[in-house]
Amino acid sequence: MVGTVKFNIAKISGKLATLMAKRGPGSGGTYPGHIFTKIAGEDGITRLASDLKIGSVLVTGTNGKTTTTTLLIKLMSNDVQIRRSYENNILNSIVTALINQKGDLGIFEYGIRNLTYGIPDTVQRLIDPIGVVYTTISQEHTQVAGIKNPFEDYYKAKKLLSQGMKRGAVVTNADDPRTALIGLDKSVDVDVNYYGIAADGIEDVGCEAIECPKCGEMLSYSRHFLNHRGLYECSCGFKRPEPNVKLTDVQFNRDSWKLTIEGDLFNYTASRDVKFNLDLTVPPFGFHNIYNTLASITAYATFTPKVERIESTIKEIFNNLDMSFIPPGRFEVVDIGGKYVGLGQGDNGDAIKINAMFMKQYVDGPLEFIYTTPEENEEEIFEDHFEVVKSMNPAHVIVVPGRKSIDKAREYYEIIKEEYPDAEFYPLSYEKMDARIEKLTDLARNSSYDYVIMTGCGEEQAMWERIKRNLIDN
Ligand SMILES: [Zn+2]
Repeated sequence: MVGTVKFNIAKISGKLATLMAKRGPGSGGTYPGHIFTKIAGEDGITRLASDLKIGSVLVTGTNGKTTTTTLLIKLMSNDVQIRRSYENNILNSIVTALINQKGDLGIFEYGIRNLTYGIPDTVQRLIDPIGVVYTTISQEHTQVAGIKNPFEDYYKAKKLLSQGMKRGAVVTNADDPRTALIGLDKSVDVDVNYYGIAADGIEDVGCEAIECPKCGEMLSYSRHFLNHRGLYECSCGFKRPEPNVKLTDVQFNRDSWKLTIEGDLFNYTASRDVKFNLDLTVPPFGFHNIYNTLASITAYATFTPKVERIESTIKEIFNNLDMSFIPPGRFEVVDIGGKYVGLGQGDNGDAIKINAMFMKQYVDGPLEFIYTTPEENEEEIFEDHFEVVKSMNPAHVIVVPGRKSIDKAREYYEIIKEEYPDAEFYPLSYEKMDARIEKLTDLARNSSYDYVIMTGCGEEQAMWERIKRNLIDN
């Protein structure tokens, strides 16, 4: 174990690094953690994490991590002081939050792209979380920093974040076979709380059957809720577990949605069983946010020390929710003088499908699709994207490079042109990002269509959020 003097020096140095980083160049988000780790070593991180009286909860998954983390923080900070951080891919951003903040509970989003650039098992060992929360796991970028990233490795990396846990609880999506299997496998070591949909009044959405993550056979589905999420079973015996927290009824109105949610789970922090019933009125925030709502409520009810407040806190937060909980750059539909423009990031097939579904709620006439392409070697993502473009039945298509390669974007455009002969291509460069953003803003604003969807690949905050701001502010 790291000595107390060394530990304290490391902590002070980390705090000093924060002050310096605020003044000078460099990232205040990871630098203090970097300095701390350099002085105190790995043992120091474990000791730092153990400062948290209740412990740390890590949120991971392909889509919905940031939103789930945001909602969980809103809920939990009603009950207890917390330390938090968003959008981390490296350990030192968690360490930085541990040094700079105060509180008994840590809530940290942790995204892992692959095993080369992420160290999920090390993060688990050093932070020793009491909770890992899984949103959903689907095919993401097949390429990370120029290296091919097979899905098996990606899935394994997600699993490793909870694999070594010997205490605490896992919160996971029962309707996603991949995250459900992680729960089943972990249930021998720790408590597992599942969430899912159990409402009859929901139309099936999508029909994407996937292979059984346990044996590799195709799963058979009796319901599809959202892409590969649904009610499924396999000849090997693997089937969708019964959720502890479930959506039992939903009413979709134009201005608000009513969600009925039932919960029956084990609260790890207070070490007791908890039941709750909720009727919530939320903004019409898109079907995918029902899952983010269930994930955050389940995680909150699993880890809050204030068990008696569960129902009242959830009602307080969700009945007063506005759309500002959506993270920067994510898909939103904005009304610009009677023209509806849906825009935001849709980097993977799952995300773009969700965006398309969300847009469909608004479309009532001919639609223009402004599509931003993936990079070289991302043909699989393009295929998923193109299916979604076609499913929207656009009257007109515009293609723009979403990443660096203009040549590859042109190749994708040529494929699209076979189906949509009057599709247009704008070879906007990545280096001249300001010009790209200006042109994309113009295309949406001056479109001759009343319904425009602009989505695909692109930097979240550097591109999508700025275009969104341009459209809203002018
Ligand atoms: Zn199977």
